[in-house]
Amino acid sequence: LILKNVRKVFTSYGVETVAVDNFDQVIEKGQLVTLLGPSGCGKTTTLRIIAGFEVPTSGRVLLDERDVTNLPPNRRNISMVFQSYALFPHLTVEENIAFGLKLKRLDRSEMRRKIIEMTDLVGLKGLEKRRPDQLSGGQQQRVALARSLVMEPSVLLFDEPLSNLDAKLRETMRLEIRRIQQEVNITSVYVTHDQVEAMSISDVIVVMNQGKVMQIGSPFDIYARP
Ligand code: ADP
Ligand code: ADP
Repeated sequence: LILKNVRKVFTSYGVETVAVDNFDQVIEKGQLVTLLGPSGCGKTTTLRIIAGFEVPTSGRVLLDERDVTNLPPNRRNISMVFQSYALFPHLTVEENIAFGLKLKRLDRSEMRRKIIEMTDLVGLKGLEKRRPDQLSGGQQQRVALARSLVMEPSVLLFDEPLSNLDAKLRETMRLEIRRIQQEVNITSVYVTHDQVEAMSISDVIVVMNQGKVMQIGSPFDIYARP
């Protein structure tokens, strides 16, 4: 995933806000890159540009050597995990996971195989028939993750996925997200304002402030040279 000089300017009531200012980064296959910074620094806008919910004012987004800058979200092979989970409340765990697969016209046995593989991977075995309101917050997060991964996206995006969980569960889930991300070797971009979270899950941390990239490095680099 490559972001080339991505810039996003919002204009409202005649006032211009530079939300993202020349963001330039190559994200290697299988890496987890975290966008870290205070509220309003441009993290979410960057993520939404990668997902295709926003078009940059200038610059390009390349995915698998293809220019996707002007492609809509559904044509990018990118999946996003939200803090609100966005699960279907009337569907069971396995139905939630299978939902997107229905568009892929797989046969029954292939569909079953994928659902079993995913419930195993994210640790939801035995809970396949439950509905979201019969699950804990951590378990709902696991369903959301499985539902994204089953589509086999090229890139997985996380928008503050743990902010609705209590402190203890946040710690468990960030380790789980990292384990699962490494197990399937999926390229990921992760947005957070939590420094500890960024330190514990990232290959690369991009520190942002007021739309600008201030620092890029491994957790060790960022820690050692604050
Ligand atoms: P973060 O995710 O780091 O909190 P955002 O990317 O949401 O930051 O926002 C970056 C800046 O862009 C902020 O100043 C925000 O107010 C502004 N912004 C974001 N979206 C819009 C929008 N749709 N219209 C106008 N300004 C926006
Ligand atoms: P976890 O730490 O795994 O997220 P919790 O400690 O919150 O789980 O919950 C423990 C158990 O209680 C879980 O196995 C979960 O299935 C069950 N549980 C939690 N919330 C609910 C609920 N609202 N309805 C039914 N079962 C629940």
